[in-house]
Amino acid sequence: MTIQERIWVPDEEWMALSSETTVRCRMTEGKTHIRCPNTAVAQFRRGYRLISWWAYCADHLYGRRFNNGVVESLRWPLP
Ligand SMILES: [Zn+2]
Repeated sequence: MTIQERIWVPDEEWMALSSETTVRCRMTEGKTHIRCPNTAVAQFRRGYRLISWWAYCADHLYGRRFNNGVVESLRWPLP
């Protein structure tokens, strides 16, 4: 058995925001729900019938990374 390395692939559920955006990250932290002060870099499509976009900064992409204007997530390559 060989150990496969995970690869970064573009995540189609996420859309990069313009670098000129002023949208703030919507992450809140702790019991006091202090809002993250960072400007969002990308937004996540949430919902199916009623689609809304949730924007997050590079620190709050849930394990994804923001690379060259694309949000990428780690995947196991298909055999
Ligand atoms: Zn944030």
